Amino acid sequence: MKIRFLGTGVGIPQAGRVQSGLIMEMIGKPVLFDCGCGVLGRIAEAGYTHTDIENIVLTHLHLDHVGDVLALLKANWLKGKTKMRIFGPQGTQEWFGKVIDTYDYLQGRFEVEITELAGGETFTPKGTDCNISCIPTVHSTPSLAYRVECGKKIVVYTGDTEPSKPVFEFSREADVMIHECSFPLGFETDNHTTPDMFTDVLKQTPLYVKILYFIHLYPHMQGHEQEAMDHVSQYFSNEVRIASDLLEIVV
Ligand SMILES: [Zn+2]
Ligand SMILES: [Zn+2]
Repeated sequence: MKIRFLGTGVGIPQAGRVQSGLIMEMIGKPVLFDCGCGVLGRIAEAGYTHTDIENIVLTHLHLDHVGDVLALLKANWLKGKTKMRIFGPQGTQEWFGKVIDTYDYLQGRFEVEITELAGGETFTPKGTDCNISCIPTVHSTPSLAYRVECGKKIVVYTGDTEPSKPVFEFSREADVMIHECSFPLGFETDNHTTPDMFTDVLKQTPLYVKILYFIHLYPHMQGHEQEAMDHVSQYFSNEVRIASDLLEIVV
């Protein structure tokens, strides 16, 4: 399985990091996880053709995770591809209906099959033979973390969340965990993660993953990347890295 980070940033723009999005390539098929603003452009920069994307999996409906969904659908329609599948949390159908309603000229242009998921459900995007399961995260709106199992490889993508024991347990034996780390050490926040919030949970709940990647970095994290990795490494013996836009990893 191949992972291509497209956007590792957030709602506040910064050089080099667009909003959330990544591709997991499963049996040669790219499945897009989140599609925030800037991700559509990154799909081309990463060497993919946008019409190859038939499955979009959304962690939640905050704008920095869905801002380019409609733009991707329109781009596909302009190239003659009109069938898409979107998986997302509760509310995805209503959100999509409202967004599409605002554009008369896009009415009836696409056939979008939407699947709303609740924690504990499992699905297989068409064209792949990978099992994806999900669990609710701790965020300010319904939000899901995904565990992708392809053959013997396992990848977990948390989307936005506070560090949580259930998500750590959900990630057991993963080859790669992609966890948000919005703010630096000591920053006061909720609904998101800082390195010290992460290690507070780690002290109680061991995390059995081979490599941990942090994403979803606010500009506040600039200059604090190494500090974040060093802090977490005190309590986590495997590798911790900070992802960057367009980074490719093979699992
Ligand atoms: Zn969010
Ligand atoms: Zn976000």
